[in-house]
Amino acid sequence: MRIALLTQFIDNESTRKIVRAGEARGHTVDVINYLECHMTIEANAPMLLDARGTTLPRPDAVIPRVSSLNTFYGTAVLRQLQMGGIYTPNSSEAILRSRDKLRSLQLLSRKGVPMPKTAFGHASTRTQGLIDAVGGAPVVVKILEGTQGIGVVLCESNNAALSVMEAFASLKTNILVQEFIAESKGSDIRCLVVGKRVVGSMIRKAAPGEFRANLHRGGSGEPFKLSPEQRDIAIKTARAMNLGIAGVDLVHSNRGPLVIEVNSSPGLVGIESSTSKDIAGSIIEHVAKEALKGAKEDRTER
Ligand code: ADP
Ligand code: MG
Repeated sequence: MRIALLTQFIDNESTRKIVRAGEARGHTVDVINYLECHMTIEANAPMLLDARGTTLPRPDAVIPRVSSLNTFYGTAVLRQLQMGGIYTPNSSEAILRSRDKLRSLQLLSRKGVPMPKTAFGHASTRTQGLIDAVGGAPVVVKILEGTQGIGVVLCESNNAALSVMEAFASLKTNILVQEFIAESKGSDIRCLVVGKRVVGSMIRKAAPGEFRANLHRGGSGEPFKLSPEQRDIAIKTARAMNLGIAGVDLVHSNRGPLVIEVNSSPGLVGIESSTSKDIAGSIIEHVAKEALKGAKEDRTER
């Protein structure tokens, strides 16, 4: 099978892992830098070209790894492949939905997925009401499209929360206000969901003095065995977001596991080294299987 790996990081370790896993299973993996792709659009003939104008070989499946630095362009290139009927585990629509924390939580709430209590309001009316709505300080304030822990602020006092909200309002940045889950003690659980299975999970612990468990913020990962409830929530979350490949982050709370966020291009390095599992191999096997099924019935979401 010919698999296209769509990424702007053509030489990073997650990319190399997927290429190796594909080739080890007898597939051809083309690493395509979406930033270097051009598109032509005319009736019934969506084409994807490289920057020199050469048509790229048509893959049987595409694995998108769209960076949050270039969501608009990366999802446009992916959509071009979808228009050509090519199978993808994560559609451009699903990736776009997952990039917005508010939109993600709204979708998950409809499906009954547990999450920290969250409030949102327009910048002009961001007042005490939002803080009160989630139970008062301490609260976490988050920018809607933040990633790697940047733009996630713990406000210990009511005044700190008001100041932070005011600062983001002056920058015209959309934020949400969330109940702080102190019981999680600076740790979260990353569940790597592929299809209907969790293929790896790790607990990430924040660096001393830090509440964000992101590896990019100095957190460290260790293997973690999920409870059946945690597993079910992770699978339900990926499904609600319509993501075939997802990193679902949970925190432990007094009322059970809560979903913090969903990542549509989860890193593979940290989770593979923490769990010693071949996550890239699971991804390739899932994609190859689904693409074969998809070749029989056109199931692409457009
Ligand atoms: P990002 O997209 O930047 O990773 P997250 O919403 O995942 O933002 O938050 C980053 C980290 O901060 C989480 O992994 C978790 O450790 C911590 N965190 C986020 N929200 C809460 C919360 N409501 N209560 C406690 N810890 C939180
Ligand atoms: Mg996160």
